[in-house]
Amino acid sequence: MEKGTEKNQSESSDFVKQITKKSDDFSRWYVDVIKKAELADYSSMKGIMVIRPYGYEIWELIRDQLDKMFKETGHRNAYFPLFIPESFLKKEAEHVEGFAPEVAWVTQGGHEELEEKLAIRPTSEAIICSFYAKWINSWRDLPVLINQWANVVRWEKVTRPFLRTTEFLWQEGHTVHATYEEAEEETLRILDIYTTFCEKYLAIPVISGLKSQSEKFAGALKTYCIEPLMPDGRALQAGTSHNLGQNFAKAFNIRFENQNQELEYAWQTSWGVSTRLVGAVIMVHGDDSGLILPPKVAPLQAVIVPISRGNWKETVLPEAQALFQELKKNGFRVYLDDRDTYTPGWKFAEWEMKGVPVRIEIGPKDIENKQLVLVNRLNRDKCFVKRDEVTAALEKLLEEIQQRLLERALDFREKNTHEAFNYAELMDVFDNRKGLVRAGWCESNQCEIKIKDAAAATIRVIQDKKDERFKRCSVCGAEAKHTVLFAKSY
Ligand SMILES: [Zn+2]
Repeated sequence: MEKGTEKNQSESSDFVKQITKKSDDFSRWYVDVIKKAELADYSSMKGIMVIRPYGYEIWELIRDQLDKMFKETGHRNAYFPLFIPESFLKKEAEHVEGFAPEVAWVTQGGHEELEEKLAIRPTSEAIICSFYAKWINSWRDLPVLINQWANVVRWEKVTRPFLRTTEFLWQEGHTVHATYEEAEEETLRILDIYTTFCEKYLAIPVISGLKSQSEKFAGALKTYCIEPLMPDGRALQAGTSHNLGQNFAKAFNIRFENQNQELEYAWQTSWGVSTRLVGAVIMVHGDDSGLILPPKVAPLQAVIVPISRGNWKETVLPEAQALFQELKKNGFRVYLDDRDTYTPGWKFAEWEMKGVPVRIEIGPKDIENKQLVLVNRLNRDKCFVKRDEVTAALEKLLEEIQQRLLERALDFREKNTHEAFNYAELMDVFDNRKGLVRAGWCESNQCEIKIKDAAAATIRVIQDKKDERFKRCSVCGAEAKHTVLFAKSY
């Protein structure tokens, strides 16, 4: 067995040479992994990607879990049109101004030019609000808690698979409430769902909080967001939850009769996460050998690789098949790699590339000893487990991997979160280190612009609570109104 393992490792190194090292060139590594692990492919149209089955399966697991969490909190799914008439989009001035540079238009249907051009939705507030204006009349109609799973199109100049593509998949929640307080409560409830989901399922810790006015969603009163830190030190906006106030209600005339028979404009929220989350998972957890998937969103949690030597098809394979059936029956997402056209070593490398959390090896000696070998993708630790204890052992190992991934990401974030008390310290982090910088901010847009120009960095979130140690704005030295986290971002 030892000898065999040595051979397998050398084969596995050959395979791995085909991707760039994560530490050498992070951007290339990212694209290499996506291609090699068969998550997505580029199309001939700029910025448009194809999500391949393995990538789509990760998205399905993300979607299913979030869908469950939305439904548990009273939301229902619906589906609205892909097209938005230009006049609808123009109703909310800030909204149309914010999205104008990214909107794709349909101007012709068949051979006929359209009387009014149609936007392909970049987000659906405009079309959904036009229906809400019809559906909502009385306080009895509230709250409306609707979500939709859909594709949207934003004509992006710079694209990167999963992180920024012209067309992407997402969910967008659109809710309507009778009061500001209820809308704010909903906005924060969703922010909490996103935070919990990222940490518990994706093993990605996020900082969450309010965006500054210049970074908020076009047309919103307030935008909250979740931002994980990527290994190259840049933050990624991974989800947003907006309190829209009455802005859209006024633009679309969404009014309801309150309990005193007075007409009032409604209060709204909207919120979304997208296939960008798949990009975050790839970046945060992967290594030089490829992907590492958190067990909770791994399309395959374990792969069984029978050691194919001698008459393995008569001896090892039936045992491997029985094991496969047993694990499948116990609810694991598992695959039996019984292909005889590849060596075990080649298969080991391929499943490592695909980030399957656990590999189970079974050979003649293991059968003889009534044992199996479990290999942890994270650190390649091998452990022998008794054949009749495999279910419990696998469950435990998957939990450990899930937990360890979160701890590792948390540790990375802590090591890469700095503090700056003045301009020199702030710039020192951007120039010489990487990551998030906690600092004071006076609330002026000028200071945001100055940092954007000098370091291409922005305020990622405003902390809930002001940290009294940061008395001065790190940019201009005036009194600090907030404690914020600055970073470069995607
Ligand atoms: Zn300032």
